[in-house]
Amino acid sequence: MVLTAQEFDVVIIGGGPAGYAAALHGGLAGLNIAVVEKEKVGGTCLHRGCIPAKEFLETAAVYRTVTGAKEFGIVADPPGIEFAQSQARKQKVVDQLWKGLQGLMKKRKVTTFPGTGRLGADHLVTVDDGTELRGKWVIIASGSVPRTIPGFEVDGRLVLTSDEVLDLEHLPASAVVIGGGAIGCEFASMLSDLGSQVTILEGLPKILPGCDKDVADVVVRSFKKRGIDIRTGVTVTGHRPAADGRTTTVQFGDGEEITVEAVVVSVGRRPLSEELGLQGTAVEVDERGFVKVDDHLRTGEPGVFACGDIVATPQLAHVGFAEGMLAIDQMLGDDVVPVDYTKVPWCIYCHPEVAFAGLSEEAAREAGYDVVTKKDPYGGNGRALIVGEPDGLVKVICEKTADGKAGRILGVHMVGPWVTEQLGQAYLSVNWEATPQEVAPFVQPHPTLSETFGETILALTGRGLHVG
Ligand code: FAD
Repeated sequence: MVLTAQEFDVVIIGGGPAGYAAALHGGLAGLNIAVVEKEKVGGTCLHRGCIPAKEFLETAAVYRTVTGAKEFGIVADPPGIEFAQSQARKQKVVDQLWKGLQGLMKKRKVTTFPGTGRLGADHLVTVDDGTELRGKWVIIASGSVPRTIPGFEVDGRLVLTSDEVLDLEHLPASAVVIGGGAIGCEFASMLSDLGSQVTILEGLPKILPGCDKDVADVVVRSFKKRGIDIRTGVTVTGHRPAADGRTTTVQFGDGEEITVEAVVVSVGRRPLSEELGLQGTAVEVDERGFVKVDDHLRTGEPGVFACGDIVATPQLAHVGFAEGMLAIDQMLGDDVVPVDYTKVPWCIYCHPEVAFAGLSEEAAREAGYDVVTKKDPYGGNGRALIVGEPDGLVKVICEKTADGKAGRILGVHMVGPWVTEQLGQAYLSVNWEATPQEVAPFVQPHPTLSETFGETILALTGRGLHVG
């Protein structure tokens, strides 16, 4: 039997944020789109990443709020945790979004093919059930999976990655988190707030690499105050499960050991390129497994793009969205501007939250800029005191002008209450390459947490209202 490939404008391998953003954007523009997805559309972000992780962090926030209710004169029973209910709520949120996404894809006339897709010559994508699809264009958006480390085989019981943490049936009384990056810090914060005794083991000299030092220092102080043990500059060498299988002893540093109920391996994510086929194509994969692309996300094969975690750009869902749409815009013949990865927004939802766009002070200096910086703590912000979250600060990094004043805003780095929701105007300022003089006249509503950003900007013009 000779199979004839089904023809589409675009065939997308992978239905995570990068793949589904491309599908929705292309579908809206009238392109005939096929998505091949081996698990569930929504990808890591919806099923094993952003959404379930943030839902659990919100559970932790509710627990913190109830625990601290007495300060507000609210009398509540000492809170307890019914983790099965927390899991059920997380799943409800995920499922509702999943249903919505499937409905939207249908509405945009996107055809979804279940299975693993492999790309061969002439834009032919073969699904593992034998279905053949040919796209005028193809987008590779196969995403990433958690990295593991030798000696820490994931068993879903004692050794977990983010995939297993989000499916836990009960909370461990103690945990080691290997890796103090964004995801590691989110899990450490969540587990600690929900009552686990947490130790972070980080190989680098500080946690949250990439964050401004003043910002990371606030998180470190808060974590330590809440009893999270942070050990930096240490390497883990292995672990030894107890005979009863209920705990394991992790070896690290200079012969040190710690016994815990769970080890969370959070050492980054690797691109999932090994199932892509690619024989007979000019698509290249680098030594780390990333699909090679130019700044327009074009692979070596004409008409084949790659987007999201499968390319070596920041592994963020919203970067995947932007890249998926950028690929489609090129198919539509639009004039496009490549994504400026130095200025994308970053949000970390540990407590206290972190949010930034643009260069940290250290990165700006390393890049050769002479800088003027200003910090304003949330401790002086009325709303922060009202909500009982005074820890944190806003730091603005500007390029120094010839007369020594604060010029173009290079970066805004924030840590504190709800900063992930306050990043918008900071993000615009950085991306518009605005100066403090241009931003200062914009009035901030009072009393809001966002006044701290406004105050920092005003101070940079030499006319701070409350900040010197
Ligand atoms: P993925 O989401 O990994 O999707 C790829 C899809 O392709 C998957 O559904 C997979 O099943 C499918 N697939 C793979 N190979 C094939 C194949 N050959 N054939 C068919 N289907 C295939 N990012 C943020 O921006 N904000 C956050 O707060 C955030 N929190 C996170 C928290 C955690 C715990 C984790 C793990 C990640 C988090 N991320 C966050 C990162 C974010 O989830 C990823 O950057 C994003 O999901 C990448 O999107 P993607 O489409 O490139 O890949």
